Amino acid sequence: MNHPTDTITNALSFDIEDWFHMVGIDAVADPDTWPLPSIVVDQTEWIVQTLAEADVKATFFMLGWVAERYPQLARLIADAGHELGTHSYWHRKVYELTPQQFHQDMKRSIDVIESQSGQKVLGFRAPSFSIRPGTEWAFDVLADLGLVYDTSLFPARRGHGGYPCPPQPHVFRDAPGGRPIHELPISVMRIGPIKLPFSGGGYVRLLPGAVIRRGFSQLHKRGCPVVIYLHPRDFCPDCPRVPMPLHRRFKSYVGLGTTKRKLAMLLGRYRFDTCSSVLGITSSRAAR
Ligand SMILES: [Zn+2]
Repeated sequence: MNHPTDTITNALSFDIEDWFHMVGIDAVADPDTWPLPSIVVDQTEWIVQTLAEADVKATFFMLGWVAERYPQLARLIADAGHELGTHSYWHRKVYELTPQQFHQDMKRSIDVIESQSGQKVLGFRAPSFSIRPGTEWAFDVLADLGLVYDTSLFPARRGHGGYPCPPQPHVFRDAPGGRPIHELPISVMRIGPIKLPFSGGGYVRLLPGAVIRRGFSQLHKRGCPVVIYLHPRDFCPDCPRVPMPLHRRFKSYVGLGTTKRKLAMLLGRYRFDTCSSVLGITSSRAAR
């Protein structure tokens, strides 16, 4: 069970993609090489089971490609009471697409996730947080497609993105079309002059638990929820970075990584809910 020691509710999210959906890895960049030996179903099932044991709900930003290939997965997540969001269809960087290409990719992902899960998709997380200054048109595409929130802005320097914005949940109003969209920015702590992300992916894997807890404490003092974002591969420490038939080996290493222990620590220590709940959004409420 969840034993929160803090009154702030944080957002728990998972970007549901396979280990080979990695930005900047040429060997797996071409979709014609997919699928490779997969971990996404097993790891996602483990995540859903772990959250059931902790009695915690989360948001799963699913890749449309994964939903289409594993049609039972979105339903499994929805049946467990979690929120489904979209992580795009092909996992392409937003700023490398035209608005038309982004619209087409997103519509395909939303259609497959909604039809499989029976849920209305409300939120988006960009692959590799790839909304950066100059890509504000992406928010118009989200609004056109009926989405009401985004959780892609990364208020720190970053290879594939980075967007200066307030650290707390806010309403994004700088889209060219002017329509407001709720924004749940990625969490960043300050250590002296340095802005340090601490709450997802490689940061959770690499940082000691004490540093992650310091990040929670710092944000909570400012009244900010923390946004945790993890991937199925984060629970598989020996996932390959190049295409190799190592599916059996992945399974052998399940349970050996630090991420599982850190997730257990977080679930035991802090209060979590879905991104839409943290933003106070229901399916009938959009930003105003
Ligand atoms: Zn991703």
